[in-house]
Amino acid sequence: MFVLYLLDMSLKEKYAYKKINFKKTQSLELKNCGEGLRNSEAVIVGGGSPVVVQSMTNTLTSDAKATLQQIEECYELGAEAMRVSVPDKASTAAMKDIVKNSPVPIIADVHFHYKRGIEAIEAGASCIRINPGNIGTKTQLSEIVKACIDNNVPIRIGVNVGSLEQNILAKYNNEPCPEALVESALNNIKMVEDLGWNKIKVSVKASDVMLMVKSYRLLSRKCNYPLHLGLTEAGPAFSGTIKSAVSMGALLMDGIGDTIRISLSALPQEEIKVCWALLKSLELRSRGVNIISCPSCARQQFDVISTVAKIESQITNIKQNIDISILGCVVNGIGEATRSHIGITGAMSGQHLIYLHGKPYCKAPTETLVETVVKIIQSEFGEKDGE
Ligand code: SF4
Repeated sequence: MFVLYLLDMSLKEKYAYKKINFKKTQSLELKNCGEGLRNSEAVIVGGGSPVVVQSMTNTLTSDAKATLQQIEECYELGAEAMRVSVPDKASTAAMKDIVKNSPVPIIADVHFHYKRGIEAIEAGASCIRINPGNIGTKTQLSEIVKACIDNNVPIRIGVNVGSLEQNILAKYNNEPCPEALVESALNNIKMVEDLGWNKIKVSVKASDVMLMVKSYRLLSRKCNYPLHLGLTEAGPAFSGTIKSAVSMGALLMDGIGDTIRISLSALPQEEIKVCWALLKSLELRSRGVNIISCPSCARQQFDVISTVAKIESQITNIKQNIDISILGCVVNGIGEATRSHIGITGAMSGQHLIYLHGKPYCKAPTETLVETVVKIIQSEFGEKDGE
């Protein structure tokens, strides 16, 4: 017992640098409303639960079939909730079908037309996203909040730098700043609270990295509601991924953020992949393969770049959380291989070293390296028949 305790203590000390002290926000339930949901339990946002991965469809919501197809593909990649816009009646009409058959809770995105929000709630949405500032009159806002209360549907108050209220902007010299975004969020929160509802999550999105990060830090100090992190209009896949990783990575390392959405000018499936890569890099969540590979240099004993691409494309079915190291030579290759589930190290002999569970396993020449490694991965970590 004592030895185990010491072992446990030493591991804790060894990895103490990895610990992130997350703020424990109020928790919120995205209930299961459809028949297609694959998880029997509701998705919990906040309160110390794992950071929830979500994205937003870009199909016409009125086309329920295409929307469900996209939701399904995102689910397969790890989406835990999906948002759909409801800009018109045809969209809310399709919501029933979407909610009923979706594998994950559906969040309805509502702007301007409070009635679309009520229709979406009646169709079974698990949550609605509104910007109370643009939803209409106070009476209209109260109607939508009443529908949420009656149906136990949480609200995301989504403040965005592009739609900040004029009076708040004027107060801050017409220049968006963290104080302005947070003031808008707190005003909107109060409006909803005054109407008797506190199942709330909040976002203060901006496309500027520093503005976004500092706004969320300030908001996190001012309220205890779960925060939906997002760098809005992040841009094309490559630069948008970097900007999102910088901003959300900084916040997550501060222990801020309960759910994330990456906003790329790319398909939502790509956004889900980025969400996971980001959460995996901070070891906040785990899912599937983590590839550790070197950039390659003159010492490489096989073409690292093409080998990584080939192996990665042939193991997309692997759902187990495994580390694969692919390094072009022995400089760092063996060290990484001994810490990975499977490791490949380029050898000068042309017979490259393959490690399994940290131990030497076999050798393979360049010509059959990919094939050999993929075979081992599939047999060791692939789903077996009946699983
Ligand atoms: S592991 Fe070897 S091949 Fe890869 S970058 Fe380092 S020295 Fe170069």
